[in-house]
Amino acid sequence: MTRITEHIELPVVSAGTRRQVTLHRWGGGLARRAYIQASLHADETPGLLVAHHLVRLLDRAAEEARIAGEIVVVPFANPIGLDQHLADVHLGRYHAESGENFNRGWPALTETVAGAVADRLGTDPDANVAAIRGAIRAATLALPASREDQALKRALFLEAGVADLVLDLHCDSEAVLHLYLGTPLWPDACDLAGDLKSHAHLLAETSGGNPFDEACSTIWWELAQRFPDKAIPNACLSATVELRGGPDVDDATALGDAEAILRVLTRRGFLTGEAGPVPPLLAEATPLDGVDMIAAEVPGVAVWTVAVGDRVEKGQTLGEIVDVEDAHAPRTPIVARTGGVLFARKLEKLVRPGQPIAKVAGAEPLPWRTGNLLTSR
Ligand SMILES: [Zn+2]
Repeated sequence: MTRITEHIELPVVSAGTRRQVTLHRWGGGLARRAYIQASLHADETPGLLVAHHLVRLLDRAAEEARIAGEIVVVPFANPIGLDQHLADVHLGRYHAESGENFNRGWPALTETVAGAVADRLGTDPDANVAAIRGAIRAATLALPASREDQALKRALFLEAGVADLVLDLHCDSEAVLHLYLGTPLWPDACDLAGDLKSHAHLLAETSGGNPFDEACSTIWWELAQRFPDKAIPNACLSATVELRGGPDVDDATALGDAEAILRVLTRRGFLTGEAGPVPPLLAEATPLDGVDMIAAEVPGVAVWTVAVGDRVEKGQTLGEIVDVEDAHAPRTPIVARTGGVLFARKLEKLVRPGQPIAKVAGAEPLPWRTGNLLTSR
């Protein structure tokens, strides 16, 4: 079963310009689908190299006749953001035209789908999944797509919105590998955290802003809550995979990540073969509202005394902000307000007041962490 490559044309945004999304598919038409996309935030490079290695590994698996489910890989999910530069700096996180974060505002289809399937749900979970996926597909096709950013969203969601497994490959600024996923998906997703050697697995039922992974998975438990007497499983295991920090791009690391994803695909039946035992977890899963996003209190230069990946204590000083105006001014300590893994921080050392500069994965919800839990400022 060889690979089929598709090129989906996006609407022309201006005369003389044309962009397309490339999509690789193995095992098209098989019953279950895995969907993996790289660099929805277009300036996050690690996923591009992981997807490169993943395509090569999947081509080899196809030659060995190991394809047992449909597998879709989008090796660069955001051709719009790939083309946004200002003064030699690549700006791939926000859509330059609308100012929107490319990983927010994905389709929230629960109301529409609930209305479409209310009379057709029963006690057979497989039949319910099929009916719901049909309604998701119809609702996605009805989304506006005249602008290229809308058309990009619709094209990607048509593939991912009806998948059984979705991995959205991102990266942070300076970080160890970590995951964001829905609380109801844990502990089912233990293998993902184990195989990828995740250092923090951050759970939220709804984190706010409707990022891509939640658009794919949340609808299932929202429908189950809406129709408690019907058999509606969590039919989509969806996760945002943060592949360390932006500069962490090398062949050995990317190949290791691609091999880990291959083990997940094997373990979950998309490939035949042996995945071996799930490696022991490096950490317990923790709530997203337990993440302390530490903001800089003053402007200056951050100097750190701990490393990313370190376990820190509540009240511990992680570093200091140096006043660049007064060489004799006392330094401002950067203090952890919870204990846990320091899983990410700003790569840039020149910091501004109010700017989040470090993230610690604490085990207990923090009272001030309400509202949009992904907002980093
Ligand atoms: Zn990202």
